[in-house]
Amino acid sequence: LMNICKLDVSCSKHQDIYQVHEGSQLLLSACLSCDGCLSEEESLKISQQSLEEVERVLALNKKCDVSKHKVLVASICPQSLPFFAVKFGLDITEAAHKLCGFLKTLGVQFVFDTTLAAGFSILESQREFIQRYRRRHHDSHALPMFTSSCPGWIRYSERVLGSLVTPHICTARSPQQVMGCLVKKYFSKQQKLSPEKVYHVLVAPCFDKKLEAVREEFYNSLLETRDVDCVLTSGEIYCLMEQRKVSVEELDSVPLDHVLGEAGDVALVRHEGRGSEGFLEHVFKHAAKELFGLDVHEITYKHLRNRDFQEVTLERDGETLLQFAAVYGFRNIQTLVHRMRKGRVPYQLVEVLSCPGGCLSGRGQAESEAGGKVDKVLIQQMEEAYSSLPIRLPEVNPALHTLYQEWLQGQDSQQASTLLHTQYRNQSHTQPPHMQW
Ligand code: SF4
Repeated sequence: LMNICKLDVSCSKHQDIYQVHEGSQLLLSACLSCDGCLSEEESLKISQQSLEEVERVLALNKKCDVSKHKVLVASICPQSLPFFAVKFGLDITEAAHKLCGFLKTLGVQFVFDTTLAAGFSILESQREFIQRYRRRHHDSHALPMFTSSCPGWIRYSERVLGSLVTPHICTARSPQQVMGCLVKKYFSKQQKLSPEKVYHVLVAPCFDKKLEAVREEFYNSLLETRDVDCVLTSGEIYCLMEQRKVSVEELDSVPLDHVLGEAGDVALVRHEGRGSEGFLEHVFKHAAKELFGLDVHEITYKHLRNRDFQEVTLERDGETLLQFAAVYGFRNIQTLVHRMRKGRVPYQLVEVLSCPGGCLSGRGQAESEAGGKVDKVLIQQMEEAYSSLPIRLPEVNPALHTLYQEWLQGQDSQQASTLLHTQYRNQSHTQPPHMQW
């Protein structure tokens, strides 16, 4: 297997497949987003997503030639914060302030939380779901809708599954790429800077986000700049702190910055769900209200095959109105795809994530220090830290309303559709032969 596609069986995502198929033939088409299938061009771009590259940019800022100076901005995913909270032995807000203090000692000028961007992704996913639901009778690709926030899943869909799945993927940009757009197309304007004068680093729980950042559609060839210039994993940042022998106690606690430039502390909040922004929960509640006039307060999951394959249904008078599923990890994704091929997917929406357990288990932070395996104790501690944050619905976030009006000219505008959406395409050159799941 490894000789064929260099599939890294030490990775949890790949192990997932490997264990299922041990003893049976695995096809090349089952290869996921491991380095083995990266083109030379992609490998080069990914190699620039590194600490060395950030250090190069920081070093240029110290040189006399001001034409090469850049303003450094870092955006932190809410899934990375619990990692630092556990590692620092602090609560999540204090850990965020210490991390911000560390990034600012490096020379980063602004530090943001990406929850605001995730709010845009959720609202746009909700709107797209309603549109797809309403055209389901005359568009066979409208439903099921698959969520689009996980680059591991997206890459697998585009490269391996192709047109079976790509028209079903929600076009809303992921939180990472909405954040990229906010920093390069809104914040830089507020700062009276051209986008290429801003170097945007994103701190994320997984390596797959690097692959997303280098996608063509997020590159401005005229200005030679990306919406997200560099993705660093939580683990990479923590390693840097260890290398520099940083003492957390001695770090300044610095509040995060507001994208809108307001003064005062940023109150950290989270979205619903188990740590991956809760697209399923938000769309489910929104659709229940918008399509059937029903208020859903509590969501009850039904475990199907395991904790990572769950279902939620909305019923009225014995009739099933909505049926959604959360499918995490490639083993469960394979089951889903198998059913899709047979035309037996009863769901209108599926939240798909490639890591078993979701984003807190991303391999850029959840791997044990010995390497290779996920650290279950760490994941549990991260889940506790994450759930300590209060929940806030994106619908009631005033910053989102302001940005829709001032930056995007309204929710239904062309600007919102261009900047908050993208496209996913079939990149599988041949239809995979019979898949042996
Ligand atoms: S599920 Fe895993 S690969 Fe996908 S976005 Fe989350 S951490 Fe990254």
